Amino acid sequence: MIPGHPFDDDKLREECGVYGVVGAKDAASIVALGLHALQHRGQEAGGVAAYDPETGFNTVRRLGYVRDNFTTADVMEALPGGAAVGHVRYSTAGNKGSTAIRDVQPLYAELASGGVAIAHNGNLVNAEALRAELTERGSIFQSSSDTECIVHLMARSIQRTVVERMKDALRRVEGAYSVVALTRDALIGVRDPLGIRPLVLGRLGDAWILSSETCALDIVGAELVRDVAPGELIIATAEGVESVFPFQQAKPRFCIFEYVYFSRPDSVIDGLSVYEARRRIGMELAREAPVDADIICPVPDSGTPAAIGYAQESGVPFAMGIIRNQYVGRTFIEPTEHIRNMGVRLKLNVNRAIIEGKRVVLVDDSVVRGTTSRKIREMVKDAGAAEVHLRIASPPTTWPCFYGVDTPEKEKLLAATMSEEEMRVHLGVDSIRFVSLDGLYRATGSGAGRDAAQPRFCDACFSGDYPVAPTDRLARGHLTEDA
Ligand code: SF4
Repeated sequence: MIPGHPFDDDKLREECGVYGVVGAKDAASIVALGLHALQHRGQEAGGVAAYDPETGFNTVRRLGYVRDNFTTADVMEALPGGAAVGHVRYSTAGNKGSTAIRDVQPLYAELASGGVAIAHNGNLVNAEALRAELTERGSIFQSSSDTECIVHLMARSIQRTVVERMKDALRRVEGAYSVVALTRDALIGVRDPLGIRPLVLGRLGDAWILSSETCALDIVGAELVRDVAPGELIIATAEGVESVFPFQQAKPRFCIFEYVYFSRPDSVIDGLSVYEARRRIGMELAREAPVDADIICPVPDSGTPAAIGYAQESGVPFAMGIIRNQYVGRTFIEPTEHIRNMGVRLKLNVNRAIIEGKRVVLVDDSVVRGTTSRKIREMVKDAGAAEVHLRIASPPTTWPCFYGVDTPEKEKLLAATMSEEEMRVHLGVDSIRFVSLDGLYRATGSGAGRDAAQPRFCDACFSGDYPVAPTDRLARGHLTEDA
C-alpha cells in the first residue's frame, strides 16, 4: 500500500486518476511522471497508451505502482510517440479490490472511425442497465469496467468521427466522469455536466496536458491553464485547443470530499488551494467546537492542515503528538498474527514526551468505520494523555458514494448508525465533534454556508442529497434521502 494514509482501510478510497499529453517528445514518459504524482488516487494498477504515426497505438497496462512498472527503458521504448494517455486505478466498479488486468485502463478500441484509447475517473450510475442493453444487442464485453460501456456506445454510434461518437456515447451515460481519450489526431478531455470529478488543462512548452490534479502538472514543470469546465469537451492537438459543450447545461456539483481528503494538499482546484481549504476547515472546526486543551495534534498526514488551522484559530499550541513511520510499505513482512495485530502501531507511534499528562485534541479528516479512531485513542491514552478530544474536519459520513469513490455500505458507516454521543462512548474519547456542513461550505468559499436549494458541491455522503440519481442502485432497492 502506498503511504497515502496509515489507515487506508478505514478511509473512503478514491477511485482513479487520469492524465494525457499531446504535442510532446516522449509523451509516455511525461504521462508516467504525471501518474506517479497521481498515485494517491489509485494504487492497484496503472496503464499508458501512446500513439505514434509509424507504429500506431501501443498500450502497456500493469498491476501495481507506476514507479515499479513505468520506469524501465524497455517499457518506455515500447510506448513511442508524441501523444499519450494514462490511468491509475483503484477499482470502484468491476472487480473491486482485486483488479484483473483486463480491467486496467486505458482501454483501447478500433472503431470504424479509427482507434481510440480511453481512461476514465468516476463511476457511471447506469452502467448495469447499459451493459444489459448493449449485451442484448450483441456487444461482447471484455472487462467488468463501466468504462467499457462508453467504448461500446461509441462503436455503435452512427457518427463519423471519434469526437462525435464520444459525444453520442456520453449523452447516454449517467454519473460522474472525467475522461481522457487519445485518437490518432487529438487528445480529448471531458467532464460530466455536473463536473463531479476534477480535470485540469495544462501547458508544457508546445504540449497540452490534461490531468486529474494540478500536482501532476507541477511534477513535469507544466503550467496550469485552467480547470476543464463541467460539461466541457476539449479537443487538444499540437495546433491548439478547441472547446465544446455538448450536453445540456447544469449547475455544477463538484465533489466536496476532494477538498476534505482525496486530492493532494499541493493541488489547486477551481482556484482554491486544497491545503488552504483544509486549514480553513480546521479554523471553522475550532470556532464551532472549541475545547479547553493543552495541545492540538493531527492524525498524520491527512489531518495535518486542519490541525494547523484549528491550532491557529484556537491559540492552543500545535504539536506532532503522533509520528508516522514513513517506511512501512507493502514489502513489510508481518510474520506472525501477533505482529499483524499490532497494525496501527507499525504505522504510527505516539510521541510520549509530548502527550503525557496533556489534554489532547486529535484532528482527523474523516471517520468512516471508526476502527482506527479507536486504536489511536487507545495509543494516545496509553501514552498518558489526560484527556482525548476528537475533532473531525468533515461532517459525519452517513451515505455511500456512487460517483467513483469506494465507500462501505450505509450500515458500516459509524455515523450512519450512531448518534454523536454514542460515537463518543464507542470510540472511548472525552468528546467528539464534526465540522458542520455549513462550516465545510464556508471553508471552501461559500461565505453563507450551504444553499440547500442549490448546493455548490456534491455532498451526498454527508447529506444523502444525490445530484445524479443512482439508477442501478435504485433498481436494486437502494434508498436515498428523497426516497
Ligand atoms: S458522495 Fe461524497 S465522495 Fe462521492 S462525489 Fe459526492 S461528495 Fe464526493
